[in-house]
Amino acid sequence: MLEQYIPFVGEETLQELFILSRKLKDLKVLHVNSTYKGGGVAEILQRFIPLMNELGIKTDWKVFKGDEKFFSFTKKLHNLLHLPSEKGISSEEFVYYLKITYENLKEIDTENYDVVFIHDPQPMGLIVNKQKKQKWIWRCHIDTSTPDPRAWNFIENFLNSYDACIFHMPEFVYEKIEIPTYTILPSIDPLHPKNIDLSEEEIKNTLTKFGINPEKPIILQVSRFDRLKDPFGVIEAFKLVKKKYDCQLILAGSFASDDPEGEEVYKELLNLIADERDILVLNLPPDSHKEINAFQRGATVVVQKSLKEGFGLVVSEAMWKSKPVVGSNVGGIKRQIVHGITGYLVESVEGAAMRIKQLLANKHLREKMGFHAKERVKHRFLIIRHLRDYLLLIYKILN
Ligand code: UDP
Repeated sequence: MLEQYIPFVGEETLQELFILSRKLKDLKVLHVNSTYKGGGVAEILQRFIPLMNELGIKTDWKVFKGDEKFFSFTKKLHNLLHLPSEKGISSEEFVYYLKITYENLKEIDTENYDVVFIHDPQPMGLIVNKQKKQKWIWRCHIDTSTPDPRAWNFIENFLNSYDACIFHMPEFVYEKIEIPTYTILPSIDPLHPKNIDLSEEEIKNTLTKFGINPEKPIILQVSRFDRLKDPFGVIEAFKLVKKKYDCQLILAGSFASDDPEGEEVYKELLNLIADERDILVLNLPPDSHKEINAFQRGATVVVQKSLKEGFGLVVSEAMWKSKPVVGSNVGGIKRQIVHGITGYLVESVEGAAMRIKQLLANKHLREKMGFHAKERVKHRFLIIRHLRDYLLLIYKILN
């Protein structure tokens, strides 16, 4: 399978990867997160694990289980790590987190691995089972540069026992962190059903199947139903655009089992657009990869108006399909979009509307930006680069 990446990254890059992986042969690696489906972390792990194994590094993926109460708390914690708020963390919540962690400790065997990667705050407490010879790494997918101090104190109870942590970007690292930190940018997989080429016919058929008019310009945002993705702001921007251009808005999303807020946001959106023509809110099963692919390819302009964002894989996914993306000037979005070259970075609803209009008006501009967008992803955000970064980091931590 790895050979199939040669057309995208070249033979030399792949050879480097093989050389590096030989140095790590016989190593046993474990990844733990809290959902198999839904959201960017699961998306990456689904592709990463088989490739690591193909490289000869025995890699397993285990999922930490929780119930709604647990995930409501960890969602609050996630939001608090992004931004301070009035909501604190109660001692009851702390005890419940420990209780669920304890249950998972009985189910998830972490002892038989040399290196353990723990993704995000949900499974962090498993660290209590760390063995002397092991290396444990916390892989944080959140922008924790300005956390709520209580949320930070909470995770610090566990974090300081880790050997290292990884963030997407240096800007995400909280200044008071005490353990070694590294940065690795995420990636997309060009061979994933979500990103492979599709025929014009397949794109059109998929759009039609969902009641989308393939002949009318399409504005698209793909994301979990999450307030931080600002779907409400996208609707406002769309209404401004709509005053001048006849176009459609698709908000395509799904629920993730570790995000109980999704259903509430979805219902609010449905109420809001009940009388709107040309706005579609689609709740898809989390494995609707070909459908998302077709939407992204069929879109005229792709939007990602997040208020806060870890990386925002959807931005690279759209750029890979040669789409100009209008994204908020936050988190990993600002690392992906080159303002004025591959799309636009915006700060407000009005700014988003203005840039969408500009792109709708100018096909040549869309094509030019789309070309640069794809090139950027090819050089910086493909999975082979990501794998290499991980192998280098493991090598460094073990030596
Ligand atoms: N995604 C999907 N279906 C949806 C919504 C999202 O398959 O209805 C995928 C999306 O294509 C991307 C991932 O979920 O691969 C979301 O990752 P991102 O980093 O953009 O956001 P996160 O959900 O991790 O905050």
